[in-house]
Amino acid sequence: MPIYCAIIFCTLELVPILVTLYRRRNANTMKNSDTIWDIVDAKRDAFIDLSDRVWGMPEINYTEVRSVAEHTRMLQEQGFRVHKDIAGLPTAVMGEAGEGGPVIAILGEFDALPGLSQEAGVAEERPVEAGGNGHGCGHNLLGSGSMLAAAAVKDFLAANGLPGRVRYYGCPAEEGGSSKGFMVRAGVFDDVDIAISWHPAAFAGVNNPISLACNELNFHFSGRASHASATPHLGRSALDAVELMNVGVNYMREHMPSSARVHYAITDAGGSAPNVVQARATVRYLVRARTLPELITLVARVRKVAEGAALMTETTVRSEVISGDANLVGNTPLEESMFAHLERLGPPVFDAADHAAAAKFQATYSTEDIAASYGRFGLTPKRGLALCDSIFPLGGGDGTLVGSTDVGTVSWVVPTVQMRGATYAIGTPGHSWQLVAQGKLPAAHKGMEHAAKVMAATAVELICNPALIEAAKADHQARLDGTPFVNPIPDDVEPPLPEIHHG
Ligand SMILES: [Zn+2]
Repeated sequence: MPIYCAIIFCTLELVPILVTLYRRRNANTMKNSDTIWDIVDAKRDAFIDLSDRVWGMPEINYTEVRSVAEHTRMLQEQGFRVHKDIAGLPTAVMGEAGEGGPVIAILGEFDALPGLSQEAGVAEERPVEAGGNGHGCGHNLLGSGSMLAAAAVKDFLAANGLPGRVRYYGCPAEEGGSSKGFMVRAGVFDDVDIAISWHPAAFAGVNNPISLACNELNFHFSGRASHASATPHLGRSALDAVELMNVGVNYMREHMPSSARVHYAITDAGGSAPNVVQARATVRYLVRARTLPELITLVARVRKVAEGAALMTETTVRSEVISGDANLVGNTPLEESMFAHLERLGPPVFDAADHAAAAKFQATYSTEDIAASYGRFGLTPKRGLALCDSIFPLGGGDGTLVGSTDVGTVSWVVPTVQMRGATYAIGTPGHSWQLVAQGKLPAAHKGMEHAAKVMAATAVELICNPALIEAAKADHQARLDGTPFVNPIPDDVEPPLPEIHHG
């Protein structure tokens, strides 16, 4: 096996050689991939039901008790070896199948968003429960589609007597809870060779691996209360400090990388009485940057501004990190492999009824919403098209308008690839009632199954072709180029677990 031995001496120059080798082998190893799609087809209905059940019990940020119970039960029914409470998170679960061989992780999510309660299927804003939660990011589909892929790979391994392990990781609290960062910190991915995931979207394609590293921090200022009119000179205002910190950061914007983002919210203004000098105030910052090292530098500058504001106002400041994600690290061999399976499968097939249903939602979007949806994937808008009819090109979109994801943290420690599945009308804004409403439509189910097929075929290729795994690992090392991984969640930060009563 000279290919694998060569890895030990792997350098940047070896990456293209390895990629070429795996492509040559690829021609011989892919004849089973249609079988994997048949397995996905056979399992589809059970996973559509799982997705719909989770849609109907929207739970947020580490409170996903019922959703994780549904995922756990499905893992057991499918015959996985189930590990609960992984990384000490009561709403995280992992199922493993197979023996020996490489370890392929397929990552899923199932958390919802607050304030987005919405009836299914109706193209007008109509909450089921005022102020309730809703699946505004399609994570009901994300989790179910990922487990469908893992279950198909499990059956494929068993049927063919192949060595290899496939795992489904049910990850809670993606929306603001950064659970995968805590899971990385706990080492639950340490023996994983490759991670695969997907996200619902308007278009199908291989995810352009660009996201922003981020840190969320609280800055607590403490001053001295006083009568604001009788003894103002004795008071020291924490609210003044917050305001000066915000002014300082707003001046800093001109002198930071243009791809960075800084947002803030005053979460405690120190009380409602204007005639009391505010003795305490808290501002929450969300700092984002293109890379992890850039983030570390920017957060340090924001901390200095906070100290400056405290100095100016004779108050004190204490900061605490709440959560954080690393940026996504791409992987060329994995992206090319996934793209090849996607091209072979073709785009998802939607019928006239799917297009008609999507068109009703699209009628509620502005021209700008629709243009932005195309632009995000580097596509030219097509007039009157309600649902995706093609695959967006590899590397599509310029990646200038992106958010953050906790998959980014995984991608620093394990070579990772993600797909975008076409599950909703073109132009649908993220985190919107329209997205919630489309979460149980037949188009969403078809897009989920389509993504599961691509992920499962990619996983099977990885298990059948160790050279691809080695090429992916070499690409990963070359991209990081020795940059040390610093988890944006420090060791002393605990996940914000609520009081959960297991019934
Ligand atoms: Zn999401």
